[in-house]
Amino acid sequence: MTASYEGVAKLGFGAMRLPLTDPDDVTAIDIEQVKTMVDEFMAKGGTYVDTAFVYHDGASETALREALVERYPREAFTLATKCLAWACASKEEAQACLPTSLERLGVDYVDYYLLHNLGGARTAKFDEYDMWNYVAKAKADGLIRHVGFSMHDGPETLEGILTAHPEVDFVQLQANYLDWDDPVTQSARCLEVAAAHGVPVIVMEPVRGGRLANLPERGAEVLAAADPDASQARWAYRFCLDLPGVLTVLAGASTLEQMQDNMDTFQAHKPLTEAERSAIAEVVAALRSVDLIPCTNCGYCVKDCPEGVKIPIALNLLNLEKQTEDNAFVKGLYSWQAAEGPASKCIQCGSCEAMCPQSIPIIDRLAEAVEHFEG
Ligand code: SF4
Ligand code: SF4
Repeated sequence: MTASYEGVAKLGFGAMRLPLTDPDDVTAIDIEQVKTMVDEFMAKGGTYVDTAFVYHDGASETALREALVERYPREAFTLATKCLAWACASKEEAQACLPTSLERLGVDYVDYYLLHNLGGARTAKFDEYDMWNYVAKAKADGLIRHVGFSMHDGPETLEGILTAHPEVDFVQLQANYLDWDDPVTQSARCLEVAAAHGVPVIVMEPVRGGRLANLPERGAEVLAAADPDASQARWAYRFCLDLPGVLTVLAGASTLEQMQDNMDTFQAHKPLTEAERSAIAEVVAALRSVDLIPCTNCGYCVKDCPEGVKIPIALNLLNLEKQTEDNAFVKGLYSWQAAEGPASKCIQCGSCEAMCPQSIPIIDRLAEAVEHFEG
């Protein structure tokens, strides 16, 4: 690998949920507030700013041009953006993403360019549209400094992609204290796979889509007892900041206040003490203390499913819903994670239940998933 990663601060700015002037219009970004957030980020040592072609329907990129690119020297920050090729109708459309992103951002190059959300059937679209060769050429032409991809799938998928693409400079993975040893997400194993390939990691979802910053009472009270002054988000970021092999941790912010808290966490960061690690373990235990489905993600059930139902994903999301008590959030995840095999495709043949070593009543659970997530 020839890429240099020097100068990247450990806490990045994820520009996925920027403040809006009209809550019903995702493109109506409150640019004046974004400028104050960017100023706070830059003043306190931030460097890495992450956006995507699709965030805020493209308005995240244009907002960053106005709030960051046009107000700071180019060498003061590193910019990352992404191409969601699988959502494009053609190769031409997918390959038009980079020039459009460069124009929206007002830059000649991006420091980090990601093939966005690989995994499942989505991965093949990047091959079909010849995106790997496209980004390699764009890198050779100086339009991209580092090429990588983001992925929410498990370690086997990651291993497969990194083996097929040893040219990758970095990878963006989901990691947080709740997913760390989760049997489906397997964040710890994913980071091990990246390390084995010598690829640095950008951490996404450190607060699990905001859920770890808004814990149910049984988790919140544990953290409040351990440190009444620290925000829940601060605990989540601190868990990720010291993970080995991590280039930066993407912290989302939708207000100046959140950005201030993020940057104060970054500036004051000290490794977690044993007592603090125990408090986090206690939160995880509290979140999991509800009656969870004992799925280990062994995958035996899916081998013979005639309908290709994404059984472990559906069960995992039912568990996540119980842990976070947030149906709307989990329903959003289900809409794309289970898109290739929704629970409603189940024809109740029973072959999965015969295979399940945990004796889970899968058919009943899938009916629950339909009710919770497909209504
Ligand atoms: S019962 Fe449903 S989920 Fe299970 S194998 Fe049959 S179709 Fe698939
Ligand atoms: S066989 Fe049972 S434990 Fe294994 S993934 Fe399927 S539901 Fe989960």
